[in-house]
Amino acid sequence: MTHTILFDVDHTLLYTGGAGGLAMGRAFQQLHGIENAFQNIEATGRTDWSIFKRGLQTHDLFDDAQDFDDALAAFIDAYVGQLATTLREAPGYVEPGIPELLDALAARDDVRLGLATGNFRRTCLLKLEYYELNAHLSEGGFGEDAENRGDMVTRAIERVASGLPASDRSAHGDNASNGSRPNEIWIVGDTPRDVEAARANGVRSLAVATGESTAGELRAAGADVALKDLSNTEEVLSVLFD
Ligand SMILES: [Mg+2]
Repeated sequence: MTHTILFDVDHTLLYTGGAGGLAMGRAFQQLHGIENAFQNIEATGRTDWSIFKRGLQTHDLFDDAQDFDDALAAFIDAYVGQLATTLREAPGYVEPGIPELLDALAARDDVRLGLATGNFRRTCLLKLEYYELNAHLSEGGFGEDAENRGDMVTRAIERVASGLPASDRSAHGDNASNGSRPNEIWIVGDTPRDVEAARANGVRSLAVATGESTAGELRAAGADVALKDLSNTEEVLSVLFD
């Protein structure tokens, strides 16, 4: 049995103190000349792709798909540049118990760890590096993978949970694959959108009330389990490996 645990980033692993939003705003201003472009755009639980697209649409800058690909690539570059500065400006923190939990999970040989985040890959890795959470997390689903969070989670599952690629499987004589089955895959996140994305993919969700939603709200959204926080490593492990 191979368990796959896929983590959301903001308000689940860490809180940047607003550094991400600040950097996105500055990047948009740098490229499109509009200040506070995202201030009326609801970002919670959305992918960065979705947030950026809404920013363009709100300010009548959204054209066709080809232009969008180019605009998105330029935006990611600018955002990465701004985030390196704003991470130092905005005081944030690692959510309680996260380093201990990641170490405990990484120590098991029946676990694959990954990310299922709305952050772009590069900005995600910058945040994790800044908060020293990058030792066990690098692959997964990211903000440029999809506009819709459920589709991003699908990519995370493909990359982390599915075992060896088919081409390698035959070379290793492993026809059955060593991937996780759906009930061995968990999405860990803080918003109803994390929960909905897990359900859309037929996998389980561990929701954590370290963001804007209460445990009750997360349960109402369909979370398999909702906890106040992830500070009690033994409790979390008993949930994941019940
Ligand atoms: Mg989050």
